[in-house]
Amino acid sequence: MKATTLLPDLFCFHDTCNVYVVRDGTEAVAVDFGSGRWLRELPRLGVRSLRHVFLTHHHADQCAGLAARKTSPFVVHAPREEERFLSPAGVAAYWRARRPREGCPPSYSVLPRGLRGVRYDMADSADLFWGRRRIRFLRTPGHSLGALSVLLTHEGKQVVFCGDAAHAGATLWQPYHLEWDHWTGAGALAAWEGVRRLADLQVDLLCPAHGLAVADRPQAMLRQLARKLMDFYRAKGNVSPGERDDYADSEPLPCGARRVLPHLFQYDNNSYLLLSETGEAMLIDPPTDPKRTAPLLAELRRPPVTAATATHFHSDHTGGLPAARRRYGAKVWLHPWVAAILHRGNHRELVSFPAETVRADRLWPARGRWRWNEYEFRIAPLPGQTWWHCGFMTRVDGQKVLFSGDNFQPASRWNGTGGFCAFNGSRLEGYARSARLVLQWRPDLLAAGHRTYFRFRASRFRKVLRWASRAKSAVQALCPTGDLENDYHLHSIARESR
Ligand SMILES: [Zn+2]
Ligand SMILES: [Zn+2]
Repeated sequence: MKATTLLPDLFCFHDTCNVYVVRDGTEAVAVDFGSGRWLRELPRLGVRSLRHVFLTHHHADQCAGLAARKTSPFVVHAPREEERFLSPAGVAAYWRARRPREGCPPSYSVLPRGLRGVRYDMADSADLFWGRRRIRFLRTPGHSLGALSVLLTHEGKQVVFCGDAAHAGATLWQPYHLEWDHWTGAGALAAWEGVRRLADLQVDLLCPAHGLAVADRPQAMLRQLARKLMDFYRAKGNVSPGERDDYADSEPLPCGARRVLPHLFQYDNNSYLLLSETGEAMLIDPPTDPKRTAPLLAELRRPPVTAATATHFHSDHTGGLPAARRRYGAKVWLHPWVAAILHRGNHRELVSFPAETVRADRLWPARGRWRWNEYEFRIAPLPGQTWWHCGFMTRVDGQKVLFSGDNFQPASRWNGTGGFCAFNGSRLEGYARSARLVLQWRPDLLAAGHRTYFRFRASRFRKVLRWASRAKSAVQALCPTGDLENDYHLHSIARESR
């Protein structure tokens, strides 16, 4: 591994992340650590004693090499707020909480075990001394909640080691780290603020944790990045601004369920029960705990449950299917896209998977028709919140009802959608495709997840179409290669994950 000389006595090693080494006589300090293989090169640079290592943030690519070391002759410093993702206790608590996983984790790249002996003495707007030099720290969150940039005056120049707060080309390394939850722009906004703060400094050389250092007008690049971050933040905003909610009325039942139509009931968080003239019932997205279906069945005088299905693979929608089969002998029907992802066990670590394996008794056509008693369904892929999502529509009591899962919500709920994020395997072109399908099918009623059922309005879905294209451009603009599949999507998280 050869060092690149950026300035006299300032070197960069391209390790699992960039490791920057500042030399002063025979001593040196480093920013970030990577695998640590670069340590062997220090004698060649005339460095006899590495004194300090400053970690910009906790991601595994910044510091995994430290885990293998029992003792170190140098002091490792880390941002105060990163302790919960680096210390043995913090890391153990993180992995305990992450299994079984629900929703987005607070970090996508945490070491398997925490590091001992790290000093959490790097704080925003504070400094540490190394001999006569004052090393300063600034809060630049985004990639991680507690990330800091390191600022040093070297050879008369202000050098900023910004970790993953910025990447050359006004982009971001693995921008999905900004998704602190599955739907808001909180991470994007925090990143924007940090980048704005950097843009307002005199920066002579910007040294990011990945890619090339930026010596040519770094502030202009940072200002451009801030604009892109604001576009990304807006993409996380409402998908159908200005639309009214249009909730459909429903009647309360003594058991707590709601009668949406004479033959359609909504209960628990995500679940629907559809009654047939034959007296049979079909469950859609039934709750994981069958005790939560029992009161409604009792109130309806225990109709035989002969079919069950789910709109998408998320555990809060599919978790109840095995119990529906066991308890009621219901046949589990799945859309092939939903079934396919559920069979790919290697995704268990990544997404909100049901704890119990869910398999289908029968598969629907990917696109086509299916009949259950008097109900004829139109079936199609309905990607959005996640790619592995379907929609199905049938006429219930004279109304065209589209079971649409988590893609679309009334405007006042979660910005009008179940949210998009890489962790869920969202695809923005999926949203566009699904909005087009809804516009074509023109249901009367959308029976969506999370207790929402609302009237169709074409203007809402035309707005979603425009939003999806804007949002895709916004994410793409942040990708260093310009390729969403490579930089943003699920498999890039899989690569990072242990
Ligand atoms: Zn990072
Ligand atoms: Zn979902």
